[in-house]
Amino acid sequence: MVLGIPFFLFSRQVNCQNISIYLLIRLMRLHRCEGCLAACGRQRRATPLPTLPRSLVKTKLYKRSRRTPYTLAAMSKKNCVDMVDATPPTPPDTDAPPMPWFGMDIGGTLTKLVYFEPRETNRREIDKETEVLKNIRRYLTRNSAYGKTGRRDVHLQMDNVEIRGRRGTLHFIRFPTSEVGAFLQLARSKGMADLVNTIYATGGGAYKFEEDFIKEVNMRLSKMDELDALIAGVLYVDSMNAQECYYWATPDEQPVHTHVCDSPPYSEAALSVYVRKPFDFSSPYPFLLVNVGSGVSVLVVNAPNDYYRVSGTSLGGGTFLGLCCLLTGCSSFEEAIALAASGDNTTVDKLVRDIYGGDYARFGLPGDLVASSFGQMCSAERRARVSRADLARATLVTITNNIGSIARLCASNEHIERVVFCGNFLRVNPLSMKLLSYAMSYWSRGALKALFLEHEGYFGAVGCLLHLDTKNHKQNRCPPPENQADR
Ligand code: ADP
Repeated sequence: MVLGIPFFLFSRQVNCQNISIYLLIRLMRLHRCEGCLAACGRQRRATPLPTLPRSLVKTKLYKRSRRTPYTLAAMSKKNCVDMVDATPPTPPDTDAPPMPWFGMDIGGTLTKLVYFEPRETNRREIDKETEVLKNIRRYLTRNSAYGKTGRRDVHLQMDNVEIRGRRGTLHFIRFPTSEVGAFLQLARSKGMADLVNTIYATGGGAYKFEEDFIKEVNMRLSKMDELDALIAGVLYVDSMNAQECYYWATPDEQPVHTHVCDSPPYSEAALSVYVRKPFDFSSPYPFLLVNVGSGVSVLVVNAPNDYYRVSGTSLGGGTFLGLCCLLTGCSSFEEAIALAASGDNTTVDKLVRDIYGGDYARFGLPGDLVASSFGQMCSAERRARVSRADLARATLVTITNNIGSIARLCASNEHIERVVFCGNFLRVNPLSMKLLSYAMSYWSRGALKALFLEHEGYFGAVGCLLHLDTKNHKQNRCPPPENQADR
């Protein structure tokens, strides 16, 4: 290493895989602020990379540059994929900790757990692999439900990814944060505490449940800032999955209102025109990242280590679910979304035409635009007629439109064209994605593009997984098994 720059950056065999892994590991070490989200104000920026070559460092001078996080032209995502397949694998990182590798994001509503299952177990590991480790791996990878509420999102599984010179599969698991106690009991019953003494964790729960982890399973939570983890996770997952980023548009890319002029933009007729299309996110900067979890954070991302939180709102996914439960008596997010999909918000909201009798033409406001969310519900007669589905739909449209408005204002203030939405509010929720796509494009006259990510709410947990280091793992203590690992 010269000045902390790894040899491979100078070798003739520079390949994107090496550089991207190096950058990722460097990035994971940046900006270790463990402050709360509220402290991440507008001015807060991650510290620059001290030991990277100048050409790879994004400074403020590079703000608004449109190069990839991996800088070299050859490191476009497509090239990356080709090169990963064509080049010999990166030598395993000798500093990497022993398995198992986890990253955790303990959010306000959901806890996300990402587990890395190595593809090949090397001879040394096979010898050292304990029954406990094998059991954990079998338990996690052979089930898709854990207890009453834990779920593995099998459709999101990422095979053949590389982390720290190891190839393997990423598994994505979630459970309600209210069930952290049950998770700890399970971890204890599976003997996890014998193998791992520290879990890299992010989200408010990493603070809130710190003592429970120590008391119940003697595990320490090493906390990573949630916005650092989020961005690192987004960039990593996108670099590993060519299909990660997508958008919704009409098949011929024309604005939806030119297709179905007689239908309100939020009606099924209008939204059913949209189809999902892949988006090449290999030159992402700058972009606005709108994380819609229980609440909402809006970040301006100029480079992996150059971002700031520009805005946010407390009216997020938690508000949608909370209000829906109150108004409709539903008891799960999936039920709320299903209700909303079959409802009609125009019986609940007051539209421009309810006030003007038609369009407000002078300012280009069409009659079917929502003028006042829930504006009809002050009438007892209308309340008596409204259905649960209509209430759910109106709640979804209200929350989604508000997020869309804030995102659009931020994007236009910051002169940014690409707005990336993530967070679990968008899980099984194409309706909100289409509404956001419509709103971004319509209100910006086509200047803004709403983008979405396949792994919706898992990026913080992935960011934590990338961050793990050797110091915090216990040595496998059990004697080596007599037979080889059974897989
Ligand atoms: P957080 O980290 O704040 O928990 P997430 O990105 O996990 O944020 O998103 C939480 C939001 O996702 C919830 O407020 C809800 O709107 C939505 N959601 C999606 N799936 C579920 C689920 N199975 N249970 C509860 N909320 C869900």
